[in-house]
Amino acid sequence: MEYFDEAELWSREHIEETQVIRLRNTLARVRQCEFYRTRLDEAGIGPDTIRHPDDVRKIPFTTKQDLRSQYPTGLLCVPQSEIVRMHCSSGTTGSPVAICHTKNDINSWADLMARSMFMVGVRKEDVFQNMSGYGLFTGGLGIHFGAERIGCMTIPAGAGNSRRQIKLALDFHTTVAHILPSYALILGQHLQEMGMDPREFPLRIAVVGAEPYSEEYRHRIEDMFNMKVYNSYGLSEMNGPGVGFECLLQNGLHLWEDAYIPEIVNPETGEPVPDGEVGELVMTCLCREGMPILRYRTRDLTRFLPGECACGRHHRRMDRILGRADDMFIIKGVNIYPMQVEQVIMTFPEVGQNYLILLENDGIGDVMRVQIEVREECFVEDMRVLHNLQKAIAMRLRDEILVTPKVELVESNSLPRSEGKAVRLRDERAKK
Ligand code: AMP
Ligand code: ZN
Repeated sequence: MEYFDEAELWSREHIEETQVIRLRNTLARVRQCEFYRTRLDEAGIGPDTIRHPDDVRKIPFTTKQDLRSQYPTGLLCVPQSEIVRMHCSSGTTGSPVAICHTKNDINSWADLMARSMFMVGVRKEDVFQNMSGYGLFTGGLGIHFGAERIGCMTIPAGAGNSRRQIKLALDFHTTVAHILPSYALILGQHLQEMGMDPREFPLRIAVVGAEPYSEEYRHRIEDMFNMKVYNSYGLSEMNGPGVGFECLLQNGLHLWEDAYIPEIVNPETGEPVPDGEVGELVMTCLCREGMPILRYRTRDLTRFLPGECACGRHHRRMDRILGRADDMFIIKGVNIYPMQVEQVIMTFPEVGQNYLILLENDGIGDVMRVQIEVREECFVEDMRVLHNLQKAIAMRLRDEILVTPKVELVESNSLPRSEGKAVRLRDERAKK
């Protein structure tokens, strides 16, 4: 097996021994910040508490609220002169969360990112185009430095502007791209509108992440461009991309356990869930100097996949993110995630790229509407055909989510688009 760094091949024993050493070091380091010093002293936790990776469970959780309360630099564990970069998490509401990195932090992040992309076959001969936003968002510089570390010619194209993306990709023969799932299909459509076949486009690999998408959505992107799509997971609080990444087997995301301790807990109780059960991912940094974060409640829902991966890496795998605990909505007493809706509608070939779930109150009760873009060629069908499609989608949704939504088929490109992460749910129930 070709690998980027030897930690990929570590045995379970070696991973766990290293985790204990690194967690102890981290516990010593966080004493430099008052927030963690007070919190750990109150809980009676010190480096000696840790004898096994599971002892991480003795440490109190850190929440987004904690990070906000310490904005901008309350969690620094080094003098500010050691910080070389900061990023923010992409939440649109509330006060920001800022993460500061030392030179070593930036280096180890670039290594993790390079390791992830190398794992799926990205090599120095590739031309890499980063189609994600730069700036404070970590999907820009985070992945950029990883691609440069591999040695790829790296094009920092940034988000949007499909014409320019296409021109750059054609002129420089881009073979690998980083792209948001919602933007991938838009780009493909743009190519078609320009009279080109996306399958003839030079891309062979896309690194796709930053927002939840279903397996069905992945297949659509892969088929549209005739390329491989690998799921890339990360969050600013844990650096950004390079936390979890699919290997060539596309069978769950390896979590890099030499750099993090992942846990999956019941979002209500905070207790670990049995392996294979869905819960909230909790992550602890093991290598960070500038701003190490302990037991961070990501709000992302997933599960550990049982067994070892056939690729030979012993780093545990998680399932693709099912959704965020905060995105779950309850309608008529049923808990639903937007991803369950996506899984169903994307299996219909007539369905286009975009959809929106609207929750409203009509004065009598809650109503769920799903607006779904239909491919252009299907929209010219006669009304009966569209009506049957509408009924078929509503019935399949009812089977999956136990609620019958109002399905509305709308024209291609008619739903609002965002340049950043896609908005899939609008809850307007409280507005009445
Ligand atoms: P940010 O605040 O910009 O760092 O965004 C981090 C969040 O983006 C994560 O907590 C996830 O909710 C989401 N995210 C990132 N990568 C993925 C992915 N591959 N699949 C699903 N959600 C993702
Ligand atoms: Zn694997």
